[in-house]
Amino acid sequence: MYGEMKTHLQSELKAIEEAGIYKKERIITTPQGANVHVNTGEDVVIMCANNYLGLSSHPDVIKASKDALDSHGYGMSSVRFICGTQDIHKELEAKIASFYGTEDTILYAAAFDANGGVFEPLFSAEDAIISDELNHASIIDGVRLCKAKRYRYKHSDMSDLEEQLKAAQEQRFRIIVTDGVFSMDGDLAKMDEICALADKYDALVMTDECHSAGFIGKTGRGVPEHFGVQDRVDIITGTLGKALGGAMGGYTTGPKEIIDMLRQKSRPYLFSNSLAPSIVGASNKVFDILSSTTLLRDQLEENTKYFKDQIVAAGFDIKPGDSPIVPIMLYDAALSQKFADKLLEEGIYAIGFFYPVVAKGAARIRTQISAAHSKEDLDKAAAAFIKIGRELGVIE
Ligand SMILES: *Cc1c(COP(=O)(O)O)cnc(C)c1O
Repeated sequence: MYGEMKTHLQSELKAIEEAGIYKKERIITTPQGANVHVNTGEDVVIMCANNYLGLSSHPDVIKASKDALDSHGYGMSSVRFICGTQDIHKELEAKIASFYGTEDTILYAAAFDANGGVFEPLFSAEDAIISDELNHASIIDGVRLCKAKRYRYKHSDMSDLEEQLKAAQEQRFRIIVTDGVFSMDGDLAKMDEICALADKYDALVMTDECHSAGFIGKTGRGVPEHFGVQDRVDIITGTLGKALGGAMGGYTTGPKEIIDMLRQKSRPYLFSNSLAPSIVGASNKVFDILSSTTLLRDQLEENTKYFKDQIVAAGFDIKPGDSPIVPIMLYDAALSQKFADKLLEEGIYAIGFFYPVVAKGAARIRTQISAAHSKEDLDKAAAAFIKIGRELGVIE
């Protein structure tokens, strides 16, 4: 029976390849870090990981993970409400709540699940969800699974958000939903203005802090802290799979009743396995580190400025922003691919993005800075960008 479908898939895949958008995976043979080895032989500086704080292979995090493996076993073989909750799961939920100053936290296997499972239990056909058009795919999917009326506002456009809020006044409850940091441009949601509009039009606020938790804001509490509106944001979702250790897992944190209701009704929580003890143990250590010192986020801020200054001085266009995501604009899709290939030859691992991942004519190499990068790593990366930029006529 597969025969006809096989032919169909083969031709679809060929079309993807011919369009130049087939995603190939490079293979790394070492732990994730500032420097890695790839199986084609190169030792490279990684400039495209979400390892913002350098915790993915941090010795204390690895040790905590091993300790939890010894003390709490390998797997849970259960969802949380049957026999998948250990003391360390409760400890982590409490630590995350205390980190954000919220009442409670619920863990998921991924932030994709946190966003997928947050709307449907809380909002129904009488309610409204008002979402930034550039929100992450998992928010879009989560909204789709919910019967609430959907409103979409133009990216970070506060007058459009206000229009949508006006249009949604008939609904029972309203919630404004945004990414904290938008990962393609590295720009921050205007959280202060969003909260002001939420007050004016009686709406809740939810932010997805996947690309900001741990390093945006003076103490790394994320975008609400950056704008001084921590007490005005109602629901925060985030991932353990980026800056916070980088393994996997997600969470939703907020008011007690909301988290309680999610434990009762959120489908990715009820019908998917509990987080593995080794991840939970490591994550507990991550929150201990981040709650006791701002050293890593301070280092990240310094590294970002150090790299950005060199790139801007060399004449490259970058997207401005307050995050460690530094998109180096090339505008041309083919050029972005060629540029990335040449970077690899120079020992720099970065990826070119182009339409449909970013807007047409907005192709770029997105670099992401880490606290784990040394000055030498960043110098090497900047030098490679400048050399290739000149070779390819991007800069003079
Ligand atoms: C990465 C990301 C997610 C998904 O996180 P996972 O834990 O990997 O599922 C969700 N939202 C945003 C904004 C992200 O960047």
